[in-house]
Amino acid sequence: MSTVALSLGSNLGDRLQLLRKAVSLLKGAGLVILASSDVFETPPWGVENQPRFLNVCVLAETRLSPEELLDLLKQMEDALGRTPEKRWGPRIIDIDILFCDGVSVRSDRLTIPHREMARRAFVLLPLAQVAPEWRHPETGLTPEDMIRLLPPAETGGILRVCSL
Ligand code: AMP
Repeated sequence: MSTVALSLGSNLGDRLQLLRKAVSLLKGAGLVILASSDVFETPPWGVENQPRFLNVCVLAETRLSPEELLDLLKQMEDALGRTPEKRWGPRIIDIDILFCDGVSVRSDRLTIPHREMARRAFVLLPLAQVAPEWRHPETGLTPEDMIRLLPPAETGGILRVCSL
């Protein structure tokens, strides 16, 4: 069994329902959810002219390898109605693997820990709730440490909305 952290985001349709549906699909696929963060509403990142996102993190146990887990997440995104969109554009659902135990993966398809996590408050704030003790294997930083290193503007405008 590995412990994985996943980041889920949506900024189209019934965002909260989509996040809840995605988590129930994860459970249906055999992942054991150990913890879920609150739901945060966050400003769009990268491309600003689009609706605000809802973001959550879950900590889960799985027997899947990182590659098998990525395949499952892509199938789930399709099942939830995701269509190809432009980079950083609006999306029904996006599910990323943030970390997988102490494993580092660097392949054409997959980078674990997630390459962009240290730059993204919308990932780090929910992650700090579900995995406060976790340390990035390359930097030794916890989610809170990474949040403190962000420019203040990055954490502005993020609201806790509800529990998942
Ligand atoms: P996205 O647009 O966020 O759905 O991700 C686009 C691609 O990023 C995926 O199809 C993956 O091949 C790749 N990718 C690389 N690292 C990761 C990761 N840690 N979690 C999810 N996708 C990843």
